[in-house]
Amino acid sequence: MKAISILGSTGSIGTQTLQIVEEFPDQFNVVALAAGSNLNLLVQQIEKHKPEVVAIANESLLPELQNRLNDLLSIKKLPRLPQLVGGADGLKTIASWDHADLVVTGIVGCAGLLPTLAAIRAGKDLALANKETLIAAAPVVLPELKRSGSRLLPADSEHSAIFQCLQGTPWAENARLSTGIPTPGLRHIQLTASGGAFRDWETNDLKNATIQDATSHPNWSMGKKITVDSATLMNKGLEVIEAHYLFGLNYKQIEIVIHPQSIIHSMVELADSSVLAQLGWPDMKLPILYCMSWPNRLETPWKRLNLTEVKQLSFFEPDRKKYPCMDLAYAAGQSGGTMPAVLNAANEEAVAQFLKEKIHFLDIPRMIEITCERHKNDLIEEPTLNDILLVDNWARKEVQENLKRNSL
Ligand code: NDP
Repeated sequence: MKAISILGSTGSIGTQTLQIVEEFPDQFNVVALAAGSNLNLLVQQIEKHKPEVVAIANESLLPELQNRLNDLLSIKKLPRLPQLVGGADGLKTIASWDHADLVVTGIVGCAGLLPTLAAIRAGKDLALANKETLIAAAPVVLPELKRSGSRLLPADSEHSAIFQCLQGTPWAENARLSTGIPTPGLRHIQLTASGGAFRDWETNDLKNATIQDATSHPNWSMGKKITVDSATLMNKGLEVIEAHYLFGLNYKQIEIVIHPQSIIHSMVELADSSVLAQLGWPDMKLPILYCMSWPNRLETPWKRLNLTEVKQLSFFEPDRKKYPCMDLAYAAGQSGGTMPAVLNAANEEAVAQFLKEKIHFLDIPRMIEITCERHKNDLIEEPTLNDILLVDNWARKEVQENLKRNSL
């Protein structure tokens, strides 16, 4: 039985992880849950999974959570109260909970950084969904991984595909791939992208894109922020940086290919020019389950992939003019140091402003570009954790200032 701790249990990744736990009660149990502020869903999850400890990031909700659980206890819907913790320290408690074997990192954005570091420092294995942490803070996260021996298992479907293709090779043992050390024999990788919500739109029409348009993904059901990132293709850009750090590849070795059916989740090209791919229906439960069961595979009753049903798999070059976020991400990744943290924070803030209807869809890449440009002279090549937190904060403020100055 593997004991699971979930950071972000109320989100898309978190709820799918809990579905897997319910499907495999002999394999997994939940010992620790952390949510942001969705109290109603968190209470339902506690009632069903009876964790040992629960955190709510929004500390002001702790008394209400306590009351709701007392009520459940009094009507015997809970055998005992879990330990309750709140705020940033509460998230760290969930991340480093003694009885947990694997921590699923499903918090969205750089808010996941400090809890993820706490999990690594406690020597936990991680199912990494929260890519923003690695993108912003790889210079700090990778040495911590080497020190602690924690293993980083990629939950992002593309990186899981690559990880799966490399299984059976000596360098994939113990998930050593995730320490940023170059992977021998790995020549190129191709990250597939569905093309997001606007793949069939003309570039000219993007200026009229609404929140509703940008948050309707054709293939995947995900949280709002990553769905907007998919619409701008920043998600793919972030994944390029994530792959650079996970697999120790340089940026020329990482390519993006548009594959509208989302059946091939990514491909690796090996030294002898052989190409391996991992295929499956677009369903995040599969890469999450692989992290949870790795290095084994569990028998599932899930719908089998039938290529005669899919009929056609197609592939296109990405349109770099229509989607400038991809090149912004490559450039930030190549600059290294604090630049990916600035790119990530500017993107988080710009997407948040778009979701508040303060800016247009096409302002997202422009805000990110201006912010990265302003950071160039202040780039720190080997940042500390404090440096990363400072530039993250700076980049968010910079986007807000831009908005106020209306300098776009
Ligand atoms: P969601 O928006 O669906 O869920 C986010 C989760 O994070 C919620 O549980 C939310 O809590 C919690 N949260 C938000 N802000 C904070 C905070 N400040 N402190 C603590 N918890 C917080 O996001 P997704 O599940 O879609 O994405 C999560 C991560 O996984 C992202 O990094 C994303 O890039 C990555 N990912 C997601 C995929 C997907 O299919 N969804 C695929 C690949 C990667 P609450 O709702 O209670 O406020």
